[in-house]
Amino acid sequence: MPEPTPGRVAVITGASCGIGAATARALHADGYRVALLARRLDRIDALAAELGDGALAIGADVTDRGELVTAAGRVQDEFGGADVLVNNAGTMLLGPFSSEQRDDYHRMIEVNLLGAITATEVFLSQLESGGGDLVNISSVAGRTARAGNGVYAATKWGLNGWSESLRQELLPDIRVTLIEPGIVDTELPTHITHEATRQAVQQGYDAATVKPEEIAEVIAFALSRPRHLVINEILLRPATQLG
Ligand code: NDP
Repeated sequence: MPEPTPGRVAVITGASCGIGAATARALHADGYRVALLARRLDRIDALAAELGDGALAIGADVTDRGELVTAAGRVQDEFGGADVLVNNAGTMLLGPFSSEQRDDYHRMIEVNLLGAITATEVFLSQLESGGGDLVNISSVAGRTARAGNGVYAATKWGLNGWSESLRQELLPDIRVTLIEPGIVDTELPTHITHEATRQAVQQGYDAATVKPEEIAEVIAFALSRPRHLVINEILLRPATQLG
């Protein structure tokens, strides 16, 4: 089992349910102090109460930079800053490509892609100061695409490209980890606005065997691994300079 990391501070966006809540539980069990960010305060308050000491619920919408700045201030004041940011908040509003879904397209880009970029930009100085970790929750939809998931896939492909650029740019101060789950049993499909698509996708999710706790375990394991910065720096050199 990985060694616990007592005292490290993890900020998790979208911590009110699903993979985010499971990640908060897993990291808290590993000795992290956790800041739980989401819009549904009742849910994150309940989770913070369940976890007890070292858990802080902060209402924040990742599409609102002001709320993220306020959240970062509270994390600084109450925990002394963040060591880990898990960009998990996301929404998957699938359906046939049409003007009727245009609000969904804006929403997905604003939450899944811009939300992660903004949260990272806001917490960056805290992460840099302590040798931080950035964990971005992407998806298999970040490397595949299917009819009806184009904009969701675009947000996750975008997240992947941005993460790879940051991975190279932020070394050695911050380690960037990308997680790409397949279908996980959460409430994700329940928010789909296109009714026929929601029903069809829900059927697939009803058969999902992977639980959010399993993804949380992977995240906790990745965070527990030592950094191999020397190797990474060598790999960033042009191939002609290797050897
Ligand atoms: P859930 O719907 O269970 O959780 C989504 C979380 O995102 C909730 O906590 C929700 O909190 C939060 N959220 C949504 N919009 C906002 C917002 N504007 N501001 C802040 N938080 C927001 O889904 P999952 O746990 O499944 O999804 C978590 C991540 O995992 C997402 O990025 C998703 O794309 C990704 N993923 C999921 C897969 C799956 O099959 N479940 C597969 C691959 C990737 P609240 O509503 O309280 O604000």
